[in-house]
Amino acid sequence: MTANPNPITFQRLPRSTAERVLDGRQNLKDLLPEELQEWLISAGQPRYRGAQILRWIYARGVEDFGVMTDLSKDLRQRLNELAIIPSLTLRRSIESQNKDTRKYLFDLPNGGEIESVQMRYQHPEEKGPGRVAVCISSQVGCAMGCNFCASGVMGLKRHLSTWEIVDQVLQIQNSIRDQGERVANVVFMGLGEPLHNYDEVLRAVQLLNLSNGLGIGMRHLTISTSGLVPQIYQLADEGYPIRLAISLHAVRDDLRSQMMPVNQRWNIATLLEACGVYCNKTGRRVTFEYILLDGVNDSEEEAAELVVLLERHKIRSLVNLIPWNPVDGVGYKRSEPRAIKRFQNVVERSGIRCTVRQEKGADIDAACGQLRLRDLKEREKV
Ligand code: SAH
Ligand code: SF4
Repeated sequence: MTANPNPITFQRLPRSTAERVLDGRQNLKDLLPEELQEWLISAGQPRYRGAQILRWIYARGVEDFGVMTDLSKDLRQRLNELAIIPSLTLRRSIESQNKDTRKYLFDLPNGGEIESVQMRYQHPEEKGPGRVAVCISSQVGCAMGCNFCASGVMGLKRHLSTWEIVDQVLQIQNSIRDQGERVANVVFMGLGEPLHNYDEVLRAVQLLNLSNGLGIGMRHLTISTSGLVPQIYQLADEGYPIRLAISLHAVRDDLRSQMMPVNQRWNIATLLEACGVYCNKTGRRVTFEYILLDGVNDSEEEAAELVVLLERHKIRSLVNLIPWNPVDGVGYKRSEPRAIKRFQNVVERSGIRCTVRQEKGADIDAACGQLRLRDLKEREKV
C-alpha cells in the first residue's frame, strides 16, 4: 500500500474551554452546554444561567448581552467584559433566479472565507411551512486532494472551530426566521472533509441538535466523507442516527486511488466494511455518492460492479449520481445525460434506489459540494 501524502491521520488534541477565546475573551459560542455551565459556575453564577444564555443565542439569534433581559444588569456588564458571542461576517449572498437556492459567503474573524448554501424544498409562494436545507463547510479548503474537486485543488488552509461550523446554520436561520422558515436539514457537503475535523464537527452536531436551540434532529444531519475509515467506526460508536454519505466515485481501486488519494490508505473493500458496520449500528441506510465523469467511470459495466460491491457487503444503500461540475484546470468532462440515465437504469434494476442529484442553484454556481470561492470573487470584480 502506498503511503498517503495527506496528513489525514493527524488527530488534533481536544481543545479546552480556556483555549476557546476570541480577542482575549471567552467565546461562549464555541462551548457545549455543559462547558458553558462550568464556565458560568467558575464565574460565580448559578447553573441555570447557561440554559438562559443558550436560548438567547440559538433560539432567538441574539449576540448582544445588553438585550438578555432575564439576566441582571450586573451580570450583563460582567459578561461584556469577560465573554464574547461572535458571529461570522456575511460578505454577500446571492439568490438563484428561481429563488430556491441562496449562496452565502462568510468572512472568518481570523482571516479566510467559507461558503454555505441554503436550499428551499418548495417555492416561497407555495403554501406550507418553509423548510430549508443548508449545506455547510467544515474546513477552509481540504487536505484530501481529490483531483476532480475545487477544495482538493486548493489544499487545507485550516480547520473550522465548533462555532464557525454552527454559525453558518445560525446566520441562515436568523435571516429566514422572519419569513416563518426554518432550517430543517443540514448536510456537511461544503468545503472540507468533515471527518478530518472530527472533534469540532461532532461538537457542532451536538449544538445543532439542542432542543432549546436550533433543534435539528440527528436524522436530519448528513455527514459526507471521502472515506476516513477509523473515523467512520468512531462515528458508528457515538450512537447517533446521523445519515452517512460516502463519496465513492469509482468501483475499482486503481481508478479510485488515482481520483482520491485517500483510497491508497483505505481501499474500497475496507471502506465498504466500515459502511456495513455503520449501517448495522445506526440502523441507517448509507448513501453512496458517485460523480459521473465522461469515459472515466460511467460505463454500464461499472454500474453493474457497483451493484455487486454493495450487495456483497450487504449494505442497505442509496446511490446518488452527481453530474460533475467543471473545475478550472481539471481535465475531466461531465457524462452525457444518456450515460447518466444508462448508469441509473442498471443500478435501479437491481432494486437499489438510485437518484440523480438535482442541480439546484446552477446559475449562481452554488451546487453543494462544489463551492467555488474563486468564481464568486471574480464576479465581485465585475
Ligand atoms: N469532503 C466530503 C464532503 C464535501 S464534498 C466528501 O468528499 O464527501 C461533497 C460532495 O461533492 C462529495 O461527494 C464530492 O465528491 C462532491 N464534489 C466535489 N467536487 C465536485 C464537483 N466538481 N462536481 C460535483 N460534485 C463534486
Ligand atoms: Fe475534500 Fe471532499 Fe473535495 Fe475530496 S471531494 S477534496 S474530500 S472536499
